[in-house]
Amino acid sequence: MTHTPTSWDILFIHADIATMAQGRYNSIKDGAIGVTQGKIQWIGPFDKLQMERRPFSSHPIADEIIDCAGKWILPGFVDCHTHLIWAGSRSNEFEMRLSGASYEDIAKQGGGIAATVAAVRGASEDELFSIASRRISHFLSRGTTCVEIKSGYGLDLENELKMLAVAQRLDQKFPLHVSPTFLGAHALPPEYKGRADDYVDLIINTMLPEVKSQGIACAVDVFCESIAFSLNQTKQLFTAATDLGLPVKLHAEQLSDSGGAALAAQFNALSCDHLECLSLDGAKAMAHAGVIAVLLPGAFYMLKETRKPPVENLIRLGIPMALATDLNPGTSPVHDMATVMNMGCVLFGLTCEQALAGATINGAKALGLDKRKGSLETGKDADFVVWDIDTPADLCYQMGICPVNKVVIAGKIEYNA
Ligand SMILES: [Zn+2]
Repeated sequence: MTHTPTSWDILFIHADIATMAQGRYNSIKDGAIGVTQGKIQWIGPFDKLQMERRPFSSHPIADEIIDCAGKWILPGFVDCHTHLIWAGSRSNEFEMRLSGASYEDIAKQGGGIAATVAAVRGASEDELFSIASRRISHFLSRGTTCVEIKSGYGLDLENELKMLAVAQRLDQKFPLHVSPTFLGAHALPPEYKGRADDYVDLIINTMLPEVKSQGIACAVDVFCESIAFSLNQTKQLFTAATDLGLPVKLHAEQLSDSGGAALAAQFNALSCDHLECLSLDGAKAMAHAGVIAVLLPGAFYMLKETRKPPVENLIRLGIPMALATDLNPGTSPVHDMATVMNMGCVLFGLTCEQALAGATINGAKALGLDKRKGSLETGKDADFVVWDIDTPADLCYQMGICPVNKVVIAGKIEYNA
């Protein structure tokens, strides 16, 4: 790797840059970024670039030079928790809830997650791909360059594999990096009603080995909650995943403190997500094991929850906090990270810098991708966004507009506003 500017594939100049290295703005005024083969080869102040460049002035400095004219560059957003692939619509349930219907009322009429499972099972892989393509295109246009996508609406071998195959196709077709997660333990499928242990056996003995042998998931997730899978079932699932060499993560302590975070810490989970009801002991276990906290304010907002995740404890214990959309049709129909950052600040009390770290470097940590993504540093993937803003805080503060100028992935301009 060279630090002397000779010739880059593309060079961005005259941008203010928030690198988000170590989770801080670490701003560079009037900066430049030189990119070769998709990686950041040089980053620093434009003045310094000119000084270093002088001895090489006979060489062209880059194949392409983009003058950002004072706009800001930040790392592309890493959305580390989504359920982006689904079919059907649940907006009718939103209307029912607003009219006073309870979850039980909705479930009795065939709504809730069961409705999405039926729609996903009834959709072909091509149909799911087409629907999800529209969502991921939207993500790209809002500055997201890396996205985690969970299965979990198939709930049988064929349909869980179908969802993961769609995630794989999205990764191949779109410039965004897709990190697929197997979430067979999202809910109990209707045909296993009253037989949760049998379904857990099916996941362990049939689904997980097939997911592993096809190599189509980077991690295994479980919904550990009184309305989903128990602590003991989660432990069995984590043991099986770990035996196969698959990293784990957990939907934990969203509606109750079930001890999921401490269990996840025992398995060195990548992240624990939701965490509204996280206990101090659970947080300490996460800190000890280096588990990332993923906060999902979209679901908190839509469910009108009142108990907030213990942000002060997380900060005090030095646990990195990521923010994600949790995009899903039931509880978080949120498609952009700016909205999530605004909610993180207003609802959970994060600073703008913390929210931006949550949407970039800490999101990358939650996916185990922080060596490559999430901050702008030499040697990392050149995934960043040119924003037409006055200060990075504008991205958390302004609502309802999207000031994207350009989205760059692996050094290529993939979206131009
Ligand atoms: Zn989720």
